[in-house]
Amino acid sequence: MTLPAKSVELIERRAKLLGPNVSTFYDEPVHFVKGEGVWLWDADGRRYLDCYNNVPHVGHCNPRVVEAICRQARALNTHTRYLHDGILDYVEKLTGTMDAALDTAILTCTGSEANDIALRMAEAMTGKRGIIATDATYHGNTALVSQLSRSNIPTVGFGLSQYCRFVSAPDSYRDPDPDGSKFADAVAEQIAEHEKAGTGFAALILCPYFLNEGFPDNPDGWLAPTAKVVRQAGGLLICDEVQSGFGRTGTHMWAHQKLGVVPDVMTLGKPMANGHPVGGVVTGSEIISAFRKGYRYFNTFGGNPVSCAAAMAVLEEIEDQSLVAHARSVGDHARKRLNLLKEKYDVIGDIRGSGLIFGAEMVLDRDSKEPAGEFTDRIINAMRQRGIIHSKLGRHKNTLKIRPPMPFSVENADLLFDTLDDVLAETPLVA
Ligand code: PMP
Repeated sequence: MTLPAKSVELIERRAKLLGPNVSTFYDEPVHFVKGEGVWLWDADGRRYLDCYNNVPHVGHCNPRVVEAICRQARALNTHTRYLHDGILDYVEKLTGTMDAALDTAILTCTGSEANDIALRMAEAMTGKRGIIATDATYHGNTALVSQLSRSNIPTVGFGLSQYCRFVSAPDSYRDPDPDGSKFADAVAEQIAEHEKAGTGFAALILCPYFLNEGFPDNPDGWLAPTAKVVRQAGGLLICDEVQSGFGRTGTHMWAHQKLGVVPDVMTLGKPMANGHPVGGVVTGSEIISAFRKGYRYFNTFGGNPVSCAAAMAVLEEIEDQSLVAHARSVGDHARKRLNLLKEKYDVIGDIRGSGLIFGAEMVLDRDSKEPAGEFTDRIINAMRQRGIIHSKLGRHKNTLKIRPPMPFSVENADLLFDTLDDVLAETPLVA
């Protein structure tokens, strides 16, 4: 396939106008012009099944969300220093889905900002600055948070890396830790290192489902021993649910509920308003008071009436369409189909996932578990050529990442796996 002339032109203009190193997906980047539900269309009118995008959580151009945005934009949009029902109704409904201790929120425009605030809350609450994160994660792009984003380590910054220490992300396939005690011990070790270095321990931040790190198959309740270690040391547990939240795992609205903990602070983003830029930090009154005492935080756009209308429509859609239960049943079907492929193809070493986040880890050899990263790359590009959009992730970049909009159906899953079957059959293990 050769790229259409228009795509070539857009690639050149991107490099010129946006600067070098602005990444695109695929050897042949796609130029999308339209979306609806789980479908995307390119500029030539070709339709693609979206098995990747979690931002359009309730479906591309979801009519309820589009209508809510238009209705509120026609009425009023301002910053948050005037009184308005929208932000309050939204925070009330959002926190109503969580443990009673999480009853207050700050709304932002991105997940990065939300994580930055969460870390400053930990500093305000503990008087310490030592942060612990997992070693293959991504938490965002502010000066502080980018130090924790190990999948994209910055070479420029403000010397904030001195406050960050890392533990290995869990890996249920290569290094099982069935009760979570190994992970808890590793966190305890890094807490001791922070104390020794004089930074002290402020917080552990992690995605409770380790979604960017290959979503290991950790049993329900797996994080409980770690939470105990964190609290005994006087630190905060921050759960970054930017990817794992809003029912994606199909068992709970929030992944931390599945993993058996209540975070002190929880951060949100991506799917929160279906593509309208909304993020948030949810915590309890003691922590938010400590933060607000130290810092009179204001965000011009965060929590504006249009953003809140979009975010509210997403929550209503999840509820009305029973999307959490839907994610569970379609996800169960998808994993059955993936397991059948695993029986057929030795290159599939492991199947993981819950609800509508699932995938397969590709290996060159099932005994040595040598990662098949380059092969995975070819599979993803071949799937794109056949009209299926997904990606890869994990420490070895060899795990298929399938994370579609939540209305993804059993029929959609069948199309995905029929196509994957064909592509696996015709792709040689070594190029
Ligand atoms: N946390 C996680 C887990 C993420 O995956 C991301 C974005 N991929 C972020 C935070 C940052 O969110 P944003 O891009 O909205 O700043």
